[in-house]
Amino acid sequence: MPTGTLGVNRGAGGLPSAHTSGIVTHMMYEKSHQAFQRARQLMPGGVNSPARAFGGVGGEPVVIDRGQGPYLFDLDGNRYIDLIGSWGPMILGHAHPAVIEAVERALRRGTSFGAPTLAENELAEMVVEAVPSIEKLRLVNSGTEATMSAVRLARGYTGRPMIIKFAGNYHGHVDSLLVAAGSSAATLGVPNSPGVTEGAVRDTLVLPYNDPAAAKAAFARDGQRIAAVIVEPVVGNMGCVPPATGFLELLRDLTTKHGALLILDEVMTGFRVAYGGAQSLFGIRPDLTTLGKIIGGGLPVGAYGGRADIMDHVLPAGKVFQAGTLSGNPLATAAGVATLRVLRDTNPYPRLEQLSSRLADGFQAAASGAGVPAQVGRCGSMMTLFFTDQPVTDWETASKCDTRRYAQYFWGMIHRGVYPPCSQFEALFLSTAHTDADIDAIVAAAGQSLKEIDQ
Ligand SMILES: *Cc1c(COP(=O)(O)O)cnc(C)c1O
Repeated sequence: MPTGTLGVNRGAGGLPSAHTSGIVTHMMYEKSHQAFQRARQLMPGGVNSPARAFGGVGGEPVVIDRGQGPYLFDLDGNRYIDLIGSWGPMILGHAHPAVIEAVERALRRGTSFGAPTLAENELAEMVVEAVPSIEKLRLVNSGTEATMSAVRLARGYTGRPMIIKFAGNYHGHVDSLLVAAGSSAATLGVPNSPGVTEGAVRDTLVLPYNDPAAAKAAFARDGQRIAAVIVEPVVGNMGCVPPATGFLELLRDLTTKHGALLILDEVMTGFRVAYGGAQSLFGIRPDLTTLGKIIGGGLPVGAYGGRADIMDHVLPAGKVFQAGTLSGNPLATAAGVATLRVLRDTNPYPRLEQLSSRLADGFQAAASGAGVPAQVGRCGSMMTLFFTDQPVTDWETASKCDTRRYAQYFWGMIHRGVYPPCSQFEALFLSTAHTDADIDAIVAAAGQSLKEIDQ
């Protein structure tokens, strides 16, 4: 059995070797290694979503067997304190009894009907009650479907072609939004992926996040052609980057003044940074909101919603086409309703804030203790430890982070039983299942891992 099959001593970027870290790793991941070798023959890169392949940190992923509360267990029986929560949905932790019970109940009544159900009303009602700007919504199956449909609706409703998005914001793999261009000046989008044509992104304008002047200039120039601005109100997808004071307000003002729609992409922030999402936290009322992740409780759900007069342009009330064989699926709605009920009835957000702020402080202290320049970007229970000495406010500053150091830190954490995001540019998430003891363990692991980083 070759050593370093997990890439800990052969991956890109000078990853820490099992020997220098003093931890014997190569036998600890044998079953994961075997499973991943097979997966690579079956699926491109061995995964069904690229973020899982550990491309940002080198080496091979561990293959998960099960989750329980705040923990993940891999095929070899290694336990990790989970800091990704399936990239956001698992705000109650894994296998929460209320969710399991709800899904089991739904399961026995049949898994899909292609006809209306009461559970769809229940989930829609909870979302409408929670998110003040959503008067009506449509359930879909993923965040990508939600943003794709919201963009189509914005264009259909306004009769205008252009969409503004921000560099480093991710809105799923919608062709027209797969552009990140990211220069400091406004640039017409250049496709981010082969297969996305110039035509598909011709009407997408990419601006720097948190840059009021760029937004004003874009509206001054193209105001009459802009259908919508789509924005992550707190960015999670270049690492966690909160909005600068007044930035979201400015986007609200500019869109209103020019007859464009404001779409808040709350797929990640919805029910995460507050029960009513980032819009309730910052007091912004968008025209449309996209949701996903938490509202599915770990099953595939997305939603887009907003002003009733706009939503009524969606088929069959209106003419903008959008459909889904499995949309409003009984299992998915059951998991979503169960999750939102727990969040609504227990209000875990103050507790999550307290845990998260302790973790952020712990990271900062660990980094300074190790002499590693680092910044913590955080909003509520989503955060990122950025390996840079500069504040991170946009893609330009995020992209200056030392990803080699992040990779070293990442593997140090994995070897110590903590599972952080496998990329510098992804946020971590705490759940209601995490305890103060878990935070202490994470901070201790971070302290040791950061000390191992090559300077
Ligand atoms: C995750 C995410 C999406 C895409 O959702 P999928 O369910 O992965 O398609 C869209 N927007 C934001 C802000 C996200 O975080």
